Amino acid sequence: MQKQLLDWYSQNHRNLPWRQTKDPYMIWVSEVMLQQTQVNTVIPYYLNFINHFPDVISLADADSQQVLKLWEGLGYYSRARNLHKAAKIILETYTGQIPKDPYLFIGLPGVGQYIMAAVQSIAFNHSLAVVDGNVKRVLARFCMEKYPVNSHNAHDYYSKIAYPYLHTQEPGTYNQAIMELGALICKPKKPNCNQCPIMDECKAFANGQVEHYPFREPKKTVPTHDLVCAIIFKNTKILIVQRKLTGFLGGLWEFPSYTTKTNKNKLHEIHESQEFYQENIQNKNEEYLKNQLYTNLNIKVSINQFLCRVKHAYTHFKILMDVYRCTYMSGKIMLNEFTDYRWIEIHELHQFPLPKSNHKCIPALKAYMDI
Ligand code: SF4
Repeated sequence: MQKQLLDWYSQNHRNLPWRQTKDPYMIWVSEVMLQQTQVNTVIPYYLNFINHFPDVISLADADSQQVLKLWEGLGYYSRARNLHKAAKIILETYTGQIPKDPYLFIGLPGVGQYIMAAVQSIAFNHSLAVVDGNVKRVLARFCMEKYPVNSHNAHDYYSKIAYPYLHTQEPGTYNQAIMELGALICKPKKPNCNQCPIMDECKAFANGQVEHYPFREPKKTVPTHDLVCAIIFKNTKILIVQRKLTGFLGGLWEFPSYTTKTNKNKLHEIHESQEFYQENIQNKNEEYLKNQLYTNLNIKVSINQFLCRVKHAYTHFKILMDVYRCTYMSGKIMLNEFTDYRWIEIHELHQFPLPKSNHKCIPALKAYMDI
């Protein structure tokens, strides 16, 4: 199985930018970006990031806002913050050298079992088996293993299965090969078994059971959170606030927004009429938004108009956000739940890292302003 896989990989692997190097820093950056994100999305981000920060030292010296700005749109911003923190630790503690010892490496912020195994095997040839979604799927089919690949113990469970197959002379290449097989051939839907280099030994294929594997636990329903959001004008400037540096979307800038108790989805399903919406939701939203801005930021605003409704899905929940164009009236801004604020011109928005949900407001804002 190992030989077939390595031979297939040498002939068929994609020429991705991070595969042209053995530099642990570049491999690390690529693996961090590739977690939860598709290869085609990652490529331009990776190239841009490496262009700005070609090594650990330049990343350690960088401004955190610049790091977040280069990550903007990739999501899972804690990855960027942890990478940045880890670079600083490497500079201070390991004289700028990425630790070759896996146990030291895994002690860095954001480095878990997957990143450790990927970086240490590819860059330093350590015999560590990588287990990601692709690997779990290949192994579940290859071994006809029923353990659900999305259960919370799946990583440990499939690690035990993965190790006996690891090619100990070329662990990095083997790890990349099995992941590549999952990405190109043993795909989640309609795997190309007829082109698969390990078909002869695959149990699911031999038993005609490929479509039944891998097993998964049923998905939990994803909740929807309703938010109201204010784009507040003071003459030509608009207000943006910075989220706390840790936690969800930490360090990013946004238009102030607040979670409401209204479930617009349900109300819309029951009462589709515009009148009902105006009376029962929009008015309440506007009052609520004004109250929140006063309570949390100490400013009074008037609400001029409803601008747009933004839908956005994160991994564990969705948001439905009603966005209002507001005018600043009075009050000196006080920061309770945010760490900073700015009044900026619209054309300066691109200088700040914003969550995707906020980017989705900008076309409606520009249309309103006719720019
Ligand atoms: S034969 Fe099919 S199911 Fe088995 S490993 Fe190959 S692609 Fe996957």
